[in-house]
Amino acid sequence: MSEKITSQMAIEMEGRYGAHNYHPLPVVLSRGEGVFLWSPEGKRYFDFLSAYSAVNQGHCHPRIIEALTDQAKTLTLTSRAFYNDCLGPYEKFVTEYFGYDKVLPMNTGAEGDETAIKLCRKWAYEVKGIPANKAKIVVCEGNFHGRTTTIISMSTDPDARGGFGPYTPGFEIVPYNDIPVLEKALDDPNVAGFLVEPIQGEAGVYVPEDGYLRKAFDLCKAKNILFIADEVQTGIARTGRLLACDHEGVRPDILILGKALSGGVFPISAVLADDPIMLVIKPGQHGSTFGGNPIAAKVAIAALTVVKEEKLAERAEKLGEIFRQEMKKIDSDMIELVRGKGLLNAIVVHPKNGKEAWDVCLKMSELGLLAKPTHQHIIRFAPPLVITEEQLMEAIGIIKTAIMSFN
Ligand code: PLP
Repeated sequence: MSEKITSQMAIEMEGRYGAHNYHPLPVVLSRGEGVFLWSPEGKRYFDFLSAYSAVNQGHCHPRIIEALTDQAKTLTLTSRAFYNDCLGPYEKFVTEYFGYDKVLPMNTGAEGDETAIKLCRKWAYEVKGIPANKAKIVVCEGNFHGRTTTIISMSTDPDARGGFGPYTPGFEIVPYNDIPVLEKALDDPNVAGFLVEPIQGEAGVYVPEDGYLRKAFDLCKAKNILFIADEVQTGIARTGRLLACDHEGVRPDILILGKALSGGVFPISAVLADDPIMLVIKPGQHGSTFGGNPIAAKVAIAALTVVKEEKLAERAEKLGEIFRQEMKKIDSDMIELVRGKGLLNAIVVHPKNGKEAWDVCLKMSELGLLAKPTHQHIIRFAPPLVITEEQLMEAIGIIKTAIMSFN
């Protein structure tokens, strides 16, 4: 029997042996089921982060775990040097599910964004006819697309990019949710793509005005520019639709998915596009040893099946309304603003007597609910979408009690 790791031991070991690239709440987790997580000592928490929206289907969903373990006992990895009997059926399934000609499978969200950038640049030279090495991709202030060197080159977050230069050129940054400035930027004939999050998750759940995505999409169409949606966090039912772009009837030219594509059990990402775009990438020009492996293929099919069968988008839509209504009822001057869509929500915390979002999160964790500040003053609330209305009301009670304890 291996030694039982207590919460204190786990925290000490991570501090001693792990790089200090995260600042977690002092909470250790050793088991999860549905909307709940448990510490090694048996304390139960509502999970209101869902691993940054990767666990939309709930922790250890039996159907997804069955797909994972069955395939793990059969065949795990062949690389793409050979065919395997899982990838083709997954590619058929996922392209039909989202309505695209082709998929390019990767692992992490950042790799999905990198793939989309390469695809867009290659399309710019081979199809649009932009001169070599001149292609530009327009991105938004406050974006979060991952942590690679190229991706942080288009970030405006000093923590994300500071000290990691030199940066990759080829990006132009415009304010989010600002159509006139975007329109001007897109006038440049060397612009190949516009990369956008339909809601900026990491920035603090910034929801653009109704119509923003539609107008941005129409501008892209008018100027032969690819509309690239990063739905790594907003996709897979989180905002009350299968994709957040569905709220405005926008079908991205390139769609990037990750996180909940696996229900949080495996790193799986995907880039979807139609043939005239996807087929610019030829053998040897892009790939990944693990991308499209047999376990990922089986897991993603199970995870997406759960989303449809359990009507997770509909649940997110309905329960999100209730959540925002209840948050707005809380009588505390610490809550400056409540915003969100579906079950991707946030409150903006006004500091009180030196107490900030971090202190609210600590208090909530004491009371049995986990959420994490994003930036100093915003708390994101994103429970697994399998949460019931009764569980949601219990969780709202905890959030209220935590906030009112600072009154
Ligand atoms: N894109 C968006 C919109 C994200 O929110 C994230 C992660 O939070 C990523 C990309 C990066 O995903 P990963 O951490 O799997 O690389």
